[in-house]
Amino acid sequence: MPDPHPAAAFAESLRGRGIADERVIAAVAAVDRARFMPPGQRSAAWIDAARPIGSGQTISQPSLVARMTGALELTGDETVLEIGTGSGYQAAILARLCARVVTVERLPELADPARETLGELGVENVTFRTGDGTLGAPEEAPFDAIVVTAAAPDVPPALRDQLADGGRLVIPVGDRFTQELIRVRKTGKEFDRETLCGCRFVPLIGEQGWSS
Ligand code: SAH
Repeated sequence: MPDPHPAAAFAESLRGRGIADERVIAAVAAVDRARFMPPGQRSAAWIDAARPIGSGQTISQPSLVARMTGALELTGDETVLEIGTGSGYQAAILARLCARVVTVERLPELADPARETLGELGVENVTFRTGDGTLGAPEEAPFDAIVVTAAAPDVPPALRDQLADGGRLVIPVGDRFTQELIRVRKTGKEFDRETLCGCRFVPLIGEQGWSS
């Protein structure tokens, strides 16, 4: 039997690490992370680590992408907001698991190639926005799920307010060096907050994030 694609082998390895959502495992198996990396980084695509993508930013650690995606509890018909498009890898995974993704990136030099990569892969349900994602995408709210892939000093109120009833927001919150991954769930007028794991992300820079 030929060797499985490295994406498929990596996705299988997630099972031993507490990731149980079969849809998430299938999505990870179907997306080649190498496509989202600069050519010089591609041989490291299936090492489970964040890697540089230029402009001082990183493509997230793939097991963490899987964990964050699982925490959103997607069933297929949701509209999802992602803050921090970066390489577009997380957006490509989300696109397989929900109806529509809106992704916001601060840096056009990253947003443009990410849009191109998703276009080449035939992904049609992702809308790209360039700007300050700490303010969300109010014209397209509410969202069933929101994922922030950069670290915030606290949960930006604008994002919390753009959750639909029953919606989930997953975001790393902490200082500039270490954070906890937080899930906020909106039920009626209540917001429940739980801590999922420790993590480390590049900073979320904007009006409701870090100032620089
Ligand atoms: N989801 C990405 C990870 C990118 S790293 C991936 O799969 O590759 C985090 C990204 O957040 C960086 O590209 C950074 O430029 C972006 N970012 C930081 N602050 C932001 C803000 N206020 N709004 C939108 N994007 C932001």
